[in-house]
Amino acid sequence: MERVFNFSAGPSMLPEEVLKKAQEELLCYGESGMSVMEMSHRSADFEPIIAAAEESLRKVMNIPSNYKVLFLQGGASTQFAAVPLNFLSNHKCADYIVSGQFSKKAAAEAKKYGDIAIAASSAGANPTFSTIPETTRSDFRPDADYVHICYNNTIYGTRFHYIPDTGNIPLIADMSSCILSEPFDVSKFAMIYAGAQKNVAPAGLTIVIVREDLLGNARPDTPAMLDYKLMADNDSMYNTPPCWCIYMAKLVFDWILSIGGLEEMKRRNERKASLLYDYLDSQNYYTAPVDKKCRSMMNVVFVTGDAELDKKFAAEAAAAGLKNLKGHRSVGGMRASIYNAMPYEGVEKLVAFMKKFALENPKGYNV
Ligand code: PMP
Repeated sequence: MERVFNFSAGPSMLPEEVLKKAQEELLCYGESGMSVMEMSHRSADFEPIIAAAEESLRKVMNIPSNYKVLFLQGGASTQFAAVPLNFLSNHKCADYIVSGQFSKKAAAEAKKYGDIAIAASSAGANPTFSTIPETTRSDFRPDADYVHICYNNTIYGTRFHYIPDTGNIPLIADMSSCILSEPFDVSKFAMIYAGAQKNVAPAGLTIVIVREDLLGNARPDTPAMLDYKLMADNDSMYNTPPCWCIYMAKLVFDWILSIGGLEEMKRRNERKASLLYDYLDSQNYYTAPVDKKCRSMMNVVFVTGDAELDKKFAAEAAAAGLKNLKGHRSVGGMRASIYNAMPYEGVEKLVAFMKKFALENPKGYNV
């Protein structure tokens, strides 16, 4: 069977070049005589892989030397707990901007550990979470230990169109669905974290990029596995790390470097997103229910306005080799996740399919 265009929100497509390289090296990596999947994480074969992965990521994201890079497990959801456990250290209070399901979950988890305020929320927008709240410095409590945001809202298809000004308060961002999609100034954030399963690697790896001076103040009852300082002191090898995912992540970082880095990645992503949004803006059959200035470059949400038609769309698109276009169960409609590895051709095919579907299914007649 031919490979399809997979619009899944994650796990999602990986670059074909990366999959081929992994295939080449699958049985026998270099001179090791074994697969990376079979290697001891403490072996002379694996240690250069994790070191090279970190070096490549530092280069790709231009990560300043006063930041630690951690390769962890547990997904982004585990960081929802690890963040307050590690950083609610001075005043035991933190502020969250709630712009979707994941920031809502992050705030709810943090509430178990301290005084958490919702500094701003777009839950009340119509449709809910279809925009990003505007904030100024005065929205944050001066004694907050940190401010937390979710930079790109995978489910609702929005993203921050600005970096909140938090003054001296450390800003922490969940970048699960936008990391590596464009250049970010890491120094503007105290910490960035991301589950790998969208733009980085197979599921099972979580990337944490954290400013060194914030480490070492975790609550005494913090589980060892959630203590960033312990993980940093052990170079992400306190226990067995997700070795295969780290290897795959390294291949992805190297692939991004080989195409020209994050500037080129951004150019490609903008080109793909524009193709889809420009089409959505040019017609009346589909609606993009998101505030224009906050449109995600990674997750494009659209609806026909008719739940039965939406269902038919997703089913017929899948049959045409355009898979996983059904929107999240809490939103309905369609969602095209067009992460780094989605080729331009995939979006061209999607737009062509959308045009054909609209012609073949006039509203009010066919359902
Ligand atoms: N944050 C965002 C923005 C996400 O998209 C997701 C998952 N889709 C999560 C957090 C949760 O990630 P995980 O499944 O790795 O825990």
